[in-house]
Amino acid sequence: MPLDQLSLLTAIAFSSAALTITLFVGWLGARRDTYLLNWSIGLMLVVAGVVMFGLLAEGYDPTLNFASFALTQGGFAFIYAGAIQFRAKPVPMAAVAIIGLGLIGLTGVAFLAGLSGLGTIFANLSMALLMALCAREYWCGRSESPMPMTANAALYAVSAISFVLCAAVLLSEQRWVMTAQPRNWAEDINSIVLIVGITGIGAISLTLNQSRWARHHRSEAMTDSLTGLLNRRALFDSMKTTLPPGAAVIMFDLDHFKSINDQLGHAAGDAVLEGFAALVKADLRRDDIAARLGGEEFCLVLPDLTKRSASGVAERIRAGFEAAHFATDRGIAETTLSAGVAISSIDGEPFEAVLKRADDALYAAKAAGRNRVHAPAPRLVA
Ligand code: GH3
Ligand code: MG
Ligand code: MG
Repeated sequence: MPLDQLSLLTAIAFSSAALTITLFVGWLGARRDTYLLNWSIGLMLVVAGVVMFGLLAEGYDPTLNFASFALTQGGFAFIYAGAIQFRAKPVPMAAVAIIGLGLIGLTGVAFLAGLSGLGTIFANLSMALLMALCAREYWCGRSESPMPMTANAALYAVSAISFVLCAAVLLSEQRWVMTAQPRNWAEDINSIVLIVGITGIGAISLTLNQSRWARHHRSEAMTDSLTGLLNRRALFDSMKTTLPPGAAVIMFDLDHFKSINDQLGHAAGDAVLEGFAALVKADLRRDDIAARLGGEEFCLVLPDLTKRSASGVAERIRAGFEAAHFATDRGIAETTLSAGVAISSIDGEPFEAVLKRADDALYAAKAAGRNRVHAPAPRLVA
């Protein structure tokens, strides 16, 4: 049964129009996600192009044909710009504009020369190129969410191939001048692929966007906003299981921190807290966990101490902090810290038990005069 191309084009136009609105509303709710706006504008242009292309069925007009291609090519260029932005990369606007306008220009020159068939071939190949570039973006970014990103890349790639087929049929027929809207099996495949592709890509892109926001909120809820370290809740959430033998917990408390606030102001106090966090981060290995428990109290969990000593780490951070002179608006802030170290026992131990011992050790360091690390002999048997 020959497919009714006008119905297929109508389906493309309606599904794209619905998606245009969805993406635009999505952008209204999250203006930072400019790719939603670019996709929405891009699809709007595609809808206009497809509608014009459909009008060719009533009577072929090369000017109308070129206009429909120019709109669709421009639309795909916007969609490509959105794909780059979605990868959190700055859009090389000039480059995308040059690609988009260059492709439209090439098509226009062929139409102007009266070679509407050649122009149609150029248009199909340029849309294939833009779809392939989109596919590349998702393929290269698949580590973020392998399944949906790969699915998007595949849908773009299949769309690109369907445009190449349209061009290939015209090339094989050596159809350099069009007298009617192209009607062949490749056009039918192209239309069906676009109906599936546009709705599929739209749904997947929105899902990807949602899961990205969910991840962002989750990470914000777990991060201390001043220092960027984990917050107390995140630390306790990640420490629900028993610590393996030989894991260290180090508690830090900045000494006489209240006087920094009193003498230099709260902003200076904040700068010192940030400075401490930077020192700790510089010493962190991949599996280490650093958290701000609250105020000027911090906790470090070092899971595998076979290659180094916890006291060594604590002492290095203490010495670095003592040597640091934090420049603030109201002068140099100098302060010290006290630390308590505890190692989980040979059978492994609940985190909270080790934390309690580290806290006791910290208290002992404070009582012994501050600016020191207190590390009772570990209960771990060699
Ligand atoms: P000690 O040596 O015994 O630990 O004395 P301290 O002054 O460090 O301890 P204390 O508990 O008396 O005071 C802690 C201070 O930390 C009080 C509080 O205002 C300050 N603080 C807590 N959170 C913040 C913060 O986010 N920013 C700043 N600037 N100060 C904070
Ligand atoms: Mg304290
Ligand atoms: Mg303190």
